[in-house]
Amino acid sequence: MAKRDYYDVLGVGKNATPDELKSAYRKLAVKYHPDKNPGDKVAEDKFKEASEAYGILSDKSKKENYDNFGHAAFENGGGRGGFGGFSGADFSDIFEDFFGDFGGGSRRSSRKSNNRGSDLRYDLSISLEEAYTGKKQNIQFSTTEKCNTCKGNGSKPGTSPDRCTYCGGNGRVRTNQGFFTVQQTCPQCAGSGEEITNPCNDCNGQGNKQSSKKLSVTIPKGVDDGTRIRLAGKGEAGTRGGGSGDLYLFINVENHELFKRSDVNLFFEFPISLADAALGTSIEIPTIDGGKAKIKIPNGTQNGKQFRLKGKGMPFMRRGDYGDLYVQVKTEVPIFLNKEQKELLEKFRKIENEKSNPSIKKFFQKAKDFWNS
Ligand SMILES: [Zn+2]
Ligand SMILES: [Zn+2]
Repeated sequence: MAKRDYYDVLGVGKNATPDELKSAYRKLAVKYHPDKNPGDKVAEDKFKEASEAYGILSDKSKKENYDNFGHAAFENGGGRGGFGGFSGADFSDIFEDFFGDFGGGSRRSSRKSNNRGSDLRYDLSISLEEAYTGKKQNIQFSTTEKCNTCKGNGSKPGTSPDRCTYCGGNGRVRTNQGFFTVQQTCPQCAGSGEEITNPCNDCNGQGNKQSSKKLSVTIPKGVDDGTRIRLAGKGEAGTRGGGSGDLYLFINVENHELFKRSDVNLFFEFPISLADAALGTSIEIPTIDGGKAKIKIPNGTQNGKQFRLKGKGMPFMRRGDYGDLYVQVKTEVPIFLNKEQKELLEKFRKIENEKSNPSIKKFFQKAKDFWNS
């Protein structure tokens, strides 16, 4: 079969910049990498083909040769010479980049980390008051724990595992990908280098068992909706000596019927009567700690007036201080007036003057000017 054009292989034009070449190759390499397509011959060939194309086109002098002579530039003796210089190609950072996509690639992960237990997520709903004070909470969840019978190694007590026959105990195998060799975690032993010949009866050689775990967790004061708390090592047990995963608590703070929260500040609106707003008064309002705070409403307080109560908000996490409480006045116009109230208000309307309602005077002055112009 004739070799495909290198530019076609990468799906780029002849004028592609080094960055475009790299990104095109990266996409193909991630898609067809053998780690992601185990046993898929087509994917493997595509991976090799893309690697070869990139190996040539990312090298300035080889690219020049290819542009001038096509594949012929690397045939016969010239070919081997060309490939000999391959190590100069810029693969390292690409692989550095994309091995991350495979969830711990074969290059960087240690033997043990392949056996690390999974992380777990636990969703926990708490009230705003609980977020204010912090709390201790018992949680229960299903997870895997180390098998006590075999102490987690998976072998029947008194026996020990053999060396893995597939990788010879290395935990990793090398495969040839055309120009270079790729190290992969051994598919047989998942990197442990061992093969269990006498599996533990209690865990079937897994080294861990399903269990229901109880835990007392401390929710620090000041947590907000969406706060994530990591409990290191409280996730699923690892296999064959691997470390445990972590447990993540996802905190959901429920809405409060009175207080609205914005970061560390709290807010609510409170209604006062027309008479209180006009004459002034002193009222008690609730605070999140369950107590009360006194507010002095001066005479002539307008609708929408805001008061700030310093330090009456939510606690800052891991700090000693607190946010503020903002409360806003909402004047309630009286409804369902009785006879006496009506009479008094009628009387009040008659003796109302411009001085007591400066906004009204101002507005109608403007309106008059508008009509007259
Ligand atoms: Zn066991
Ligand atoms: Zn192995």
